[in-house]
Amino acid sequence: MIAVAIDGPAGAGKSTIAKTIAKKLAYIYVDTGALYRAVALNTLHNGTDPSDEEKIANMLKKTCIELKFIDGVQRVFLNGEDVSDNIRTSEVSMTASKVSALPIVRSFLLDLQRDIAKKNNILMDGRDIGTVVLPNAQVKIFLTASAECRAKRRYNDYLVAGNTTESYEEILKDIQQRDYQDSHRTTAPLRQADDAVLVDTSDDTLEQSVEKIIAIISKKL
Ligand code: C5P
Repeated sequence: MIAVAIDGPAGAGKSTIAKTIAKKLAYIYVDTGALYRAVALNTLHNGTDPSDEEKIANMLKKTCIELKFIDGVQRVFLNGEDVSDNIRTSEVSMTASKVSALPIVRSFLLDLQRDIAKKNNILMDGRDIGTVVLPNAQVKIFLTASAECRAKRRYNDYLVAGNTTESYEEILKDIQQRDYQDSHRTTAPLRQADDAVLVDTSDDTLEQSVEKIIAIISKKL
């Protein structure tokens, strides 16, 4: 099986780029952020404090998270319910960044991610795929862009979707806070693996980033 690990901060374009490449290569695209978001949604539903590890550990004992691929498209299930759409709010993003710092949450989701990689050719995106989840991945990419550029893209995405509740400044602040939380946690912080190739998408169009990464994959395989 072939695994391409794509790590990087929020809004660097990981999911859009990885989805496009997965289609071209007929690989399965795995968005691991959805798993942390599902844990976050459960935390919010239960009113559990996202920094209280003991309470989160108890919650996880009664939690079932599954990924299913329907026509090659990932759906995430929380206790049997498809929550793929409900997890895309800024409240869930921020709570995901908090619960993902807990070692109990990371170990809870580890085997699920590794099992998918055992059975399929995949492009898996996240924060610690190349460093922790799949340290033996054949290809590792660290995808980044400036915080301002990432915030601008998010803001434009929201505008296109008709969502005008958040200003550019608020989005930028959220991105900077998540960057800080994700890269300063003790367990599996966001960092570039030693053998990952750095790709900065700040000045690229989607097509240019896709081309760059396909070239890296072709060279490595
Ligand atoms: O990628 P996405 O923005 O959906 O991820 C939501 C949050 O989940 C991130 O801010 C990060 O804290 C966490 N995450 C993680 N490890 C991963 C994927 C996501 O810690 N592999």
